[in-house]
Parts: sequence; C-alpha cells; structure tokens
Amino acid sequence: MQPLVISPREVKLSTRTEIAVRRLIPHAQLRRVGAWVFLDHFGPTPQVDGMKVQRHPHAGLQTVTWLFEGEVEHRDSLGSRQLIRPGQVNLMTAGRAVAHSEVSLGREASGLRPTSLHAVQLWLALPDSVRNSAPAFQHVEQAREFRIDGAAGRVFIGEFAGLRSPAVVHSPIAGVELRVTGRTWLPLRPDWQYALLAAEGSAIVEAVELATNQLAYLEASDRTGVWIDVPAGQTALLVLLGGEPFTEEIVMWWNFIGRSHDEIVAMRALWNDQDSGDAQLAYPKFDDALGGWIPAPELPNVTLRTR
Ligand code: MN
Repeated sequence: MQPLVISPREVKLSTRTEIAVRRLIPHAQLRRVGAWVFLDHFGPTPQVDGMKVQRHPHAGLQTVTWLFEGEVEHRDSLGSRQLIRPGQVNLMTAGRAVAHSEVSLGREASGLRPTSLHAVQLWLALPDSVRNSAPAFQHVEQAREFRIDGAAGRVFIGEFAGLRSPAVVHSPIAGVELRVTGRTWLPLRPDWQYALLAAEGSAIVEAVELATNQLAYLEASDRTGVWIDVPAGQTALLVLLGGEPFTEEIVMWWNFIGRSHDEIVAMRALWNDQDSGDAQLAYPKFDDALGGWIPAPELPNVTLRTR
C-alpha cells in the first residue's frame, strides 16, 4: 500500500500565543499512529517569545516535547522546572491530572543563545490500565544516537534500531529524529503503524513525494522497512513515529483524553473551578514567569463520542 500523504492545517490554539502551529494528527484521514494521538509541528520561528503557554491541564495522556532548535522552559504542578534543548526529551505523564506551562525565554544578544525555535509537540494516549495513575515528569538529558547507511538518527522515545530510550512509556512505540542524506533503508516492524514528518527539506518515501511540513502515513502491512530518498546534496530532517495499533476507544477533547463524554465534562469542570478544594488537590499551584491560567473552552453542544 502506498503511503498516505497528509498536509498540515494551521491551528490557532487557545493554549498558545505568538506562533503558528501546524497540526498533522489528529486529521480527518488520520486519527492516530499507534498510541500517538497528537502531533503539532511549530517553527522555525524566532526564539524570543516564540512560545508562551500559560498554565493548563492534561489528563489521560503523556506529552512529549522534542526540539530541533531553541530552548523551552517547562514548569508543572509537580514542582518540576526544566529547560529543554535539542537532543533532550521532556516527557510529562499526566495520568489523572497535571498542569504545566511552557515558555521560550527571551535571548540576550550574546550570540551564544539560540535565535530560532523549531519543535514538535506530541501526545501519547495512556492505556486504560494506567491512565488514572499519579502524574510524573521525566527529562532525558541525551537521546540515544545511531548511524545507518545514509542517515544519522536519535531515538527520543521508545525503541528503534536496537536502541531503547529510558523515557517511560506504556505502549510499544518509537519516536526517532532522522537526518537523511541520499538513500537510506529504515527497518520497520510489519505489525506497527508508522508516520514520517518532513520537518525540513523533502524526501521520496516509497516513490511518494513528501514535501516540507507534510506527513506520510504507513499502515501496518507486511513491509519490513521503507526506502527513503533525498535529492543529491540535500539533507532532510525527518521524524519517524511508530507504534503497535492502539485499539482502545477514546474521547479526546481540548487537553484531555477520557473514555466517555461525562468523564470529559468532569475533567473540564475540575480545571475550570480553580478555587475548589478538589482542583487545588488535583492541580497544585506553581509559580512561573507568565502568570495566569487558560480556562477550558465551552463544550460543543453535542455528546462527545469515542473513536
Ligand atoms: Mn500542554
């Protein structure tokens, strides 16, 4: 089967300011790739004030932040305060409830600081067995690196090419950054779903052209790998996402993943009632340079359905 090529849609987020975000998952033609249920690609954009995301909640998922360029400071209701740079991973396991904020700090004119911000923001759905667990935050200082013919890669989460990330996940998945020059063969598992994002440059994936910012989806099949070709003299910056098909039905709304409409209603109410004792227990307050918080929007006037 030929790869399905998806073009991003620009999304103005209620939770972000200043920057344009290109959403690739979910998409009308692509709900998820393994347990990967969300992919935003942002930048390159100026580092200064490139990202300002006030305190907001998550539940039922893990957030994965991976930068190609720039720096972002993460703070959360667990008390974490973590600067992330390219080559490092921030993994936040929301479990039943967590709140966080993110900001790309203003840069001095020293020339030592990055000037550009370019990243992907990803979510993994948590399986039912762990989705109500206590929240956690993990920072991986250096993703594992590898070389194969025609490509240099970093496994930022999950497992690929015999390397396993120390980031704790709950489904069999892979998240890999690849810099491809020329022709390379990527070994894939026949029973997994995969997607390839062209974050920079372009490539041919199984004879299908993948332009900058597009995503190629590869359904589980009997393939044991995929050929990637990059025009001579060029380098393509790609992200490979993969995973075993995630078969649980979920309800995904705003920053929450649940299993029913009523659960989402309760998650929304808990967050928006910031002064209640329950909210203060679920979402302990923390300080950050941004101040303020982002209320959940109104629910649509229909029953949210599982998918
Ligand atoms: Mn978030």
